[in-house]
Amino acid sequence: MDPVQNKAMKSKATMAPLLEATLNHAIQYLDDLDKTPVAHTASLQELVTRFKEPLPTKGTDSITVIDQLVANTRDGLIGSSSGKFFAWVIGGEIPASLAADWLTSTWDQNAALYGHSPVGAVVEEVAGEWMKSLFHLPAECSFAFTTGCQQAHFTCLSSARFAQLERVGWDVNEEGLFGAPRVHVITTDQRHRSVDRAIRYLGMGNKAITSCKTKEDGCVDIDVFRSILEGITTAEDGSKKVAPIIIVLNAADLHVGAIDEFAILAPIAHEYGAWVHVDGAFGLFACASRKTEHLVKGIQMCDSWATDGHKWLNVPYDCGFAFVKNSDAHKKSMTISCDYCLPEKEARDQIDYNPEWSRRARGFNVYACLKELGREGVENMVDRCCGHCLRLVEGIGALPQAEILWRPTLNQGLLRFIDPAVDQTSADAIKMNDAFTEQVIDEINATGGAFFSSSRWRNLTVMRVSVVNWRTSDEDVENVIQKVTDALSARLASTSE
Ligand SMILES: *Cc1c(COP(=O)(O)O)cnc(C)c1O
Repeated sequence: MDPVQNKAMKSKATMAPLLEATLNHAIQYLDDLDKTPVAHTASLQELVTRFKEPLPTKGTDSITVIDQLVANTRDGLIGSSSGKFFAWVIGGEIPASLAADWLTSTWDQNAALYGHSPVGAVVEEVAGEWMKSLFHLPAECSFAFTTGCQQAHFTCLSSARFAQLERVGWDVNEEGLFGAPRVHVITTDQRHRSVDRAIRYLGMGNKAITSCKTKEDGCVDIDVFRSILEGITTAEDGSKKVAPIIIVLNAADLHVGAIDEFAILAPIAHEYGAWVHVDGAFGLFACASRKTEHLVKGIQMCDSWATDGHKWLNVPYDCGFAFVKNSDAHKKSMTISCDYCLPEKEARDQIDYNPEWSRRARGFNVYACLKELGREGVENMVDRCCGHCLRLVEGIGALPQAEILWRPTLNQGLLRFIDPAVDQTSADAIKMNDAFTEQVIDEINATGGAFFSSSRWRNLTVMRVSVVNWRTSDEDVENVIQKVTDALSARLASTSE
């Protein structure tokens, strides 16, 4: 039903039933979170059948639309905001941030410019300064609120590309990359592939990337790192040359939470004039706790940092942050002027730092989250997640046929399961254990009481234990270990039949 034709819809009285119905759906969802299976239970076919129809010619009244949407999505949702979800790196929602996010949609501000939403710009600026303070980043850093870490990489690496080419006398804004000096990207072989995509978006291509070998601990090998830099900056005749170089390091990698040695690597990189960017999608939060900050020693010496709000900060999707020490390069690589948007002299215009034009006011939910938690609340959340990760890995690791592959130092750990029916000296033992590990994960997820994901790590199929949700309680952790115990015995019983 067209709400404009339905004139009554424009008045407050008629919005209320819809929004109240929606509120009740939301409350119901959150109340049931603990009782509902974490995994979805509807099949792909069922979901498609429910939704697939030609574009309707006639409209439907709004309450019916929402009621149907809720009924038809329910068992197709993953309970990733519950406390029993440990797959990938997916956070939940701090209550005030969820509420602020609703209001963000209600207010429907365009947070491109101060002029579009004065308070949107102010709140985003305050929240950005708070995020810098949370991570103890240098005061001179500029920042951008992006859709996620992928776009934060893009924003930071765009600034890096601008500055590194400027260093060799090339204006990339004017000339682009046609005929430009080659930009070298040195990164770790344990990087997240969103780094490769950002490099591609920036026109530098996969061939610009040199992967630095990592050591047993998952961190960049310092000698290899230095020799790559030497190679790039040494001309054929042995003389030294200046080259644009961007380095991307990890804080932390997604399998084992490996954090590169910034205190050593950043000074070496700077000897060669390179720009050091950090993928801190979740690991930057190690800066926010006194228990973990030693893991990221020296991180403040780097030049740019990308992280996420929707992971360890526990604000709703989608939210990421880019921080750039050289704010001039940041602004020059992003800013744009146009006839109809007058630059604000005193206020901060987000468009000067963001890749998007029109955009959601992402500051409100971040502000609300930090206001609810405070510095202490974030620190507690980080410590709690690390503790829960360790307990899960040790608790599950103590079960029969389980093997701990990585005891967490942050909030990521790895396990696998050994198939008891397989001769472990046989040639295909690894393959059989890989399959068994997948089966055990499926069995656990099928209980509905916990959810884990698998990955490939050092040629093995592994079960990841990744904890970033504020909601996970001590009780959840013990219940989950019990669920895993039951699922594993069920699997072992069926293999011995
Ligand atoms: C999730 C993740 C990314 C990508 O972040 P998005 O928010 O999904 O864009 C990058 N790096 C690491 C280490 C991650 O865990």
